[in-house]
Amino acid sequence: MTNRAKSEARSQNAEGRSGGLDTRIQYLKGIGPKRAALFAKVGVETVGQLLFHVPVRYIDRSKTLPIRHIRPGDEVTVFGKVVTAGERRMRNFRKMVACVVGDSSGMVEAIWFNRPDLAERFEAGQELMLSGKVTEYRGKQFVNPSFEILEPGGEFSRANAIIPVYPLTEGLSVWTIRRAVSAALEKYGDLVAESLSREIRQHYSFPDVMAALEAIHFPTDVRSAERGRSRLAYEELFYFELVLALRRRQNALEKKGSSLSGTGRLTGAFRQALAFRLTAGQERVVAEIVKDMAEERCMNRLLQGDVGSGKTVVALYAMLVACESGAQAAMMAPTEILASQHYAGWAKKLDSIGVSARLLTGSTRPAERREILSGLVSGAVQMIFGTHALIEEGVKFARLGLVVVDEQHRFGVLQRAALLSKGLNPDFLVMTATPIPRTLTLTLYGDLDVSLLKEKPEGRIPPVTRIVTEEKRARVYEYIEQQLAKGEQAFVVCPLIEESEKLDLASATKTFNEVCRAFPARRAGLVHGRMKPEDRDKVMERLRNRELDILVSTTVIEVGVDVPGASIMLIEHPERFGLAQLHQLRGRIGRAGQRSICILVTNPQAAESSERLAFFASTTDGFALAEKDMETRGPGEILGTRQHGLPDLRVADLSRDRALLDDARKDAFRLIEIDPELTRIENERVRKTLLSRYRGRARLSRVG
Ligand code: ADP
Ligand code: MG
Repeated sequence: MTNRAKSEARSQNAEGRSGGLDTRIQYLKGIGPKRAALFAKVGVETVGQLLFHVPVRYIDRSKTLPIRHIRPGDEVTVFGKVVTAGERRMRNFRKMVACVVGDSSGMVEAIWFNRPDLAERFEAGQELMLSGKVTEYRGKQFVNPSFEILEPGGEFSRANAIIPVYPLTEGLSVWTIRRAVSAALEKYGDLVAESLSREIRQHYSFPDVMAALEAIHFPTDVRSAERGRSRLAYEELFYFELVLALRRRQNALEKKGSSLSGTGRLTGAFRQALAFRLTAGQERVVAEIVKDMAEERCMNRLLQGDVGSGKTVVALYAMLVACESGAQAAMMAPTEILASQHYAGWAKKLDSIGVSARLLTGSTRPAERREILSGLVSGAVQMIFGTHALIEEGVKFARLGLVVVDEQHRFGVLQRAALLSKGLNPDFLVMTATPIPRTLTLTLYGDLDVSLLKEKPEGRIPPVTRIVTEEKRARVYEYIEQQLAKGEQAFVVCPLIEESEKLDLASATKTFNEVCRAFPARRAGLVHGRMKPEDRDKVMERLRNRELDILVSTTVIEVGVDVPGASIMLIEHPERFGLAQLHQLRGRIGRAGQRSICILVTNPQAAESSERLAFFASTTDGFALAEKDMETRGPGEILGTRQHGLPDLRVADLSRDRALLDDARKDAFRLIEIDPELTRIENERVRKTLLSRYRGRARLSRVG
């Protein structure tokens, strides 16, 4: 670099705009490293992220209540001045911070537990806004309310009546955030490019992007703030769906070379060999899959069905179609135990109709492994069951026609990418055991075709669900003991405590000890998340073989495990689980068609979850439960906190913005239909935005 270029670069840096919207916010006026670290905690590190840091809601100051008029039980916001504030020690030596706030009509006390940092922050005379539920304890009180300190004589006294409330951020006041946003808008606002076409903005009466940003951060009324937010959310969803639309189109273009059209030879024999007839739902789904496999293009299909809806039979049917068309089929399960279970359950039947099927897992002995691998290369092995290792570890196929992935979420799609990169292009069927609300299906699996299996085989007796309180525990144990004496088996489930493996182990171990004490005559086992998978599988095997009567476990048993003798499940702290998760757990009992019971032992203090649990007890419709979860606890709940492949959405909220998602999806897919490579002049802006936001994720072949 020449000296001149160097000095130019330096002066650009000094000016601070060289990074554009990616500039780190600590370089903004009034931020600095300390505040920047606080912002980083809520995922805001760059100027662009700051501008799109959207308030969660707005408080209309003109609509707040005089303190005198608030009533216990109400959710309210009040404004007032701090009268007294300080720390108090309670009888149990815990500390709390208490603050009395008054307006011209009256006074109210607010207390916070476990927030020693607040002791320093309140001062008499400060203007304070409190927001929360009013309780009663020697007068009216707020317990752990959200609050904003409105600096005396500061901006707020003059501020608009509408105050944005940002996502929970300890140590960052609205005031700081607004000042930062204001600085960012002033300096970088012109770099924010409009990314929606005029046509779309007009169609939905959306403001342009600058007006939207102004409206969300500095609203003049709640309605325009909401319009602004909607616009930004739509934009985010639109581009996300655009990526899906492109992928879907790409999928449709991928040829697998030949179609798997089947002959009916094996599937016919299979139908004869089954002890039951396929349900109408299974027939419908089978037809969808078979039609798809017969096409020249690759199948990319999601089979969604509730626990026990009989997805496995459907998958096997599809695998047989592949085999009778002269190709091979693989079924992958997330764990060894599930893979073995699938294989063990079907090996005999497959053998009886002349299909050569094998199981390949990490525990397969080397000699057998070699034999299987050579069978796969030669084509002598037609069907293979196993874990993901099946397609990863240098396993070669004569002609792999279909891959079935029996598990949840995004995993399957990643596996598909791995296969594609090996030059294989089989049909692909992903099965999910968790019913997923439609909005999530559209975002997570928006590039796949979906088959839905709603009804369950007839004659199945759904489990009865009972909610009992802690005092009834002894009676519950008595009942369980009676059932165990008759030869039934039971699960006792405690929540997985993800934040602390130590605590998690402690809670599982404690429950285990208690179970051992309560059922001295019974054989109990324990599985938890910290065990090695092999050890866990061993315990599960003993349970399946009836060498154990009770299994205490954390949620590791959730996925697909089949213990036919289990008819009782006791769940500790059910309020800590999502409903979809409880539903999965409940699906583990009564699998042999016997009567079964699921007992939730609740804590009376967890009253706010009682409505959810009552709903859970009232239905066995997994889709209804998933929708409820989506409403009350958000999408993360349904998918678990681990990597779930959900898009990183900053503005849009999948439970709240369903209608927007539908619109954005429709518009994005229509656009790709009309202009698949986004080469038309009027779509130039969209193409640019797409490339800058989703570089690498969207495959636009002819644009650069
Ligand atoms: P899931 O969808 O949870 O994977 P499975 O495929 O394991 O469900 O099926 C659950 C049980 O229902 C199995 O024991 C299976 O043999 C049985 N089943 C599947 N289809 C039918 C049917 N049409 N009629 C009766 N039982 C069936
Ligand atoms: Mg299954």
